Amino acid sequence: MDMNYDVVVVGAGPAGLMAARKVASRGFSVLVLEKEKDLGVKACAEAVSASAFETAEIPVTQSLISNSINGAYVYPPDESKGVKISGSSYRGYILNKPQFLYALASEAVSSGSELMMRSEVKAVKMKGTTAESLVYSHKGETREVSFKYLVGADGVGSIVGRSCGFDAADFEIIPTIQYVMVNCKVPEKDFIRIYMGKEVAPLGYAWIFAKNEYVANVGIGVRGAPAKPYLDRFIEAHPEIFKGAKAIKEGGGAVPVGGQIKETSKGNVLLCGDAAGQVIPITGGGIRTSMGAGSIAGRCIADALESGRPEEIRKYSGAYSEYWGTRISRSLKVLRAIENLSDEDLNLLGSVLSGEDIVDLANGLDVMRVVAKFSRHPVLAMKIASKLL
Ligand SMILES: Cc1cc2nc3c(=O)[nH]c(=O)nc-3n(C[C@H](O)[C@H](O)[C@H](O)COP(=O)(O)OP(=O)(O)OC[C@H]3O[C@@H](n4cnc5c(N)ncnc54)[C@H](O)[C@@H]3O)c2cc1C
Repeated sequence: MDMNYDVVVVGAGPAGLMAARKVASRGFSVLVLEKEKDLGVKACAEAVSASAFETAEIPVTQSLISNSINGAYVYPPDESKGVKISGSSYRGYILNKPQFLYALASEAVSSGSELMMRSEVKAVKMKGTTAESLVYSHKGETREVSFKYLVGADGVGSIVGRSCGFDAADFEIIPTIQYVMVNCKVPEKDFIRIYMGKEVAPLGYAWIFAKNEYVANVGIGVRGAPAKPYLDRFIEAHPEIFKGAKAIKEGGGAVPVGGQIKETSKGNVLLCGDAAGQVIPITGGGIRTSMGAGSIAGRCIADALESGRPEEIRKYSGAYSEYWGTRISRSLKVLRAIENLSDEDLNLLGSVLSGEDIVDLANGLDVMRVVAKFSRHPVLAMKIASKLL
């Protein structure tokens, strides 16, 4: 069976569902292909800032969230130097991510997109630099679909990225493992908890995000060593929270932390979200940045289709960089500056930085304000500020 659409989107995650909705709402035909039989199968810690709902263009409703977040505790190796981050600008949510994705899917479908589950893309057929069609398997049956534009929103290891010749040289991932745990005694359940240090999580961090009074997402990202032993050790080291707790579900996955790939569009193909490395490197937060990418990509494709000027899709990269791309590259710079700090230096950071400083650094916001603060400190000036200037 041969089918033809204006746009085919591969992957029904935050990026793909936003892209599909934006194109379909302008009246063009869109097919979303998703290999899984459900949405939100991938493990995720599900934390977003409150503004993620603005990016998603859906109202916050109780059914889409598990918990409201009023701040964070960030712990250096010496946990007595933990920093509390609180204030109205640091509000957020622990999503019920499957329900959140259903809401995004609902918007995409009501805008006119077709969403086909259990449809795994196996190959992209190219003619020169133009992608012409996709071969996918739907419930075991091989099918082909052609299109004018293709969106690769198929996450880490994107088949679209690999098949269409995108340069993934800068793509870097951190492997993660996460348990969904019951019977955890998390104090202040409306505060997420982050733990750092070479012994705790080399080149990464451990997290405890309470979903409700019973359940917490407990995970770790570690580079250069297997993550699971570190997570088990972390849990053992915190009996005040985990004594009597039980892991119900184990999952994991790779999070891109190397920043955006060099080119996010090529010929008639655009990459969005994890597929393009569009994740805040220090936090590993990619839900909002991926939705932002899908939204802009969808708009640029609709502009190209409407005007008949294919070059409109080239505006995607610049438009994304204006806000999101800049934050990603600043956060990457900070990651490079702090990733090899000793536990002693991290403790020092814990005693010098305020909650606002940490948020600005991690998210690539007002980095220079924090650098000015470092400059007044002899050790931090040498070890960090010099790398950020
Ligand atoms: C353990 C863990 C915890 C995380 N915690 C957070 C967090 O708390 N907050 C946050 O903001 N971010 C978090 N992230 C990152 C976040 O999950 C991603 O950045 C975000 O989901 C990226 O969205 P996406 O749409 O680009 O890709 P994905 O969500 O990965 O979606 C890609 C989709 O494409 C589908 N697909 C892949 N290949 C094919 C194919 N060949 N054919 C058809 N379909 C295909 C997949 O099944 C999937 O549905 C976490 C990630 C991990 C692994």
